[in-house]
Amino acid sequence: MNYLSTRGHPDRKRFCEILLEGLAPDGGLYLPETYPQVDAATLARWRELPYAELAFEILSLYIDDIPAADLKAISAKTYTAEVFGTDEIVPLRELEDGVYIEALSNGPTLAFKDMAMQLLGNLFEYELARRGAELNILGATSGDTGSAAEYAMRGKKGVRVFMTSPDGRMSPFQQAQMFSLQDENIHNIAITGVFDDCQDIVKAVSNDLGFKRKYRIGTVNSINWARLLAQVVYYFAGYFQATASNDKPVNFTVPSGNFGNVCAGHVARMMGLPVQTLVVATNENDVLDEFFRTGIYRVRGAADTHETSSPSMDISKASNFERFAFDLVGRDARKLRKLFVEDLGLEGRFDLSADAAFKDAAGRFGFVSSRSTHADRLATIRDTEKRFATLVDPHTADGLKAAREFLAPGVPMVVLETALPIKFAATIVEALGHEPDRPAKFEGIEALPKRVVKLPADAEAVKAYIAQNCD
Ligand SMILES: *Cc1c(COP(=O)(O)O)cnc(C)c1O
Repeated sequence: MNYLSTRGHPDRKRFCEILLEGLAPDGGLYLPETYPQVDAATLARWRELPYAELAFEILSLYIDDIPAADLKAISAKTYTAEVFGTDEIVPLRELEDGVYIEALSNGPTLAFKDMAMQLLGNLFEYELARRGAELNILGATSGDTGSAAEYAMRGKKGVRVFMTSPDGRMSPFQQAQMFSLQDENIHNIAITGVFDDCQDIVKAVSNDLGFKRKYRIGTVNSINWARLLAQVVYYFAGYFQATASNDKPVNFTVPSGNFGNVCAGHVARMMGLPVQTLVVATNENDVLDEFFRTGIYRVRGAADTHETSSPSMDISKASNFERFAFDLVGRDARKLRKLFVEDLGLEGRFDLSADAAFKDAAGRFGFVSSRSTHADRLATIRDTEKRFATLVDPHTADGLKAAREFLAPGVPMVVLETALPIKFAATIVEALGHEPDRPAKFEGIEALPKRVVKLPADAEAVKAYIAQNCD
C-alpha cells in the first residue's frame, strides 16, 4: 500500500514513512492510493473475530512494511480488556428502540482518543526501536488529546512527551490525570497563557528547523494517518454488534471537531462496510454543519470560535476535512489545491454550493449534519438520565441530539460515545445538580503529587526546557 498527498505531490510513501510525519511536504494530508475493498466473505469472517484480531486484519490492509507477526503482536498488546475495561473493547448498548451507544471511552483517559493513541504509542515504540531512533513529541492541549498522548507514550522507549497546556484552564480532573503521571519521559508544561499561546509555541518551535532536527521534534496531532486508521476498526466492530447479518445497513452519528473520527467512518464506508448515513454532530462551532448544509466551508477567526460546554469540539477549522474533500472532488489534486490553498488562503472560505460534487456529499458519500447549543446539551443530558437512567457526557449528548434528527425505520443508529461524563463534571452538575460517578481507579486523583513545570508563554523558554531534558 502506498500513500499520496491530497495536494498532488508526486512522491509515494509507505506506512512507516508517514507514521512519524505530520503533513506531506506540500502541506497536504496523506491518504492511501486506494481504499481496499472488503468482500462479503471477508466481512463474514471478520464478524466472528475478537477486537484485537479485527484490528490486525484491517491494519494489515494498509500496513505492508511491518511483518505480519509483529503487527499482530502490536494489536494484541494494544487492545486488551485490561486497558479498555471489557473483552468487547467497544461494547454497544441499546439506549432506546433502534438507537445505540458505542462505548469508546473506557481506555486510560476516558475519551475515545485512547482508541487510536494507545496503538500509536506501540507503533512508535516499535518503529523507533527498529530505526534505533528517538522522538520528542511536542504538543499543545486543552484536555483530551494531551492526556491520551501521555498515557499512550508513558514509559515507552525512545519517546519523550513535552505537553504544553494553558495554566489553570483545564478541569481539575483533567489536570490531575495529566500532572499525576510520574514517568520520567512525560513532561507537563503549564504555560501562563491561553490554549492559543500553547499552539503558537508549538508552531514556533516546529518552524525552527535547526532545533526541530537537532532535538528530533515530532507531533501526534489528529492529522496523523495511523490515528485515523486505528479508528476505522471500531466502525466495523460497532456494525457487527448492531446487526445480525452483513446485508443490513447501519447509520452512525459522530460528535465532531477536527473531523478525524467521522473521516474514519468515511474510510470504513469506502471499504464497503454497509453504512448508509454518517451524521456529523457539531456544537456552536458549526464550520462542518454549515458546509454540509450549504456547500460553503468557512474557517472561523479566533473571535468567532466559541468556548462551549463540549470543549473538545471547539474548532475554528477541521484539520482532517481536507481528506474527505479530496474524495469529494474526485481525487482531483488540482481542484483540491484551488480550494484549500488559493480560496482558503486568500479568502478564508471556499464555496462548492454550485458544484456538482457537493450533491455527492449527501448522495454518494452519505453525509448529513446537525448542530447543538448549550441548552440542547443540558436538555439531552437530563432527558437521557430521566428516561434511560444513563449518564452521557456533553459531547455524546451533542451526538444523541443530532442522531434523533436522522432516525430511519429499520436502520440501527449508532451514536459514538466520545468521553465519559466524569471528564466534564461541571456541565453534568449544571444539568443534573449532582456529580457524575467516578470510576474507582480515579478516586482521589486530584490529591496525588503533581509533576509539572510552569513556563511563560515564550517559545525560547520551552526550547530551553526541552534542550535541558534531552540528554
Ligand atoms: C477529540 C474529541 C472530539 C472530536 O473528534 P474529532 O476526531 O476531532 O472530530 C469529540 N469529543 C471528544 C470528547 C473528543 O475528545
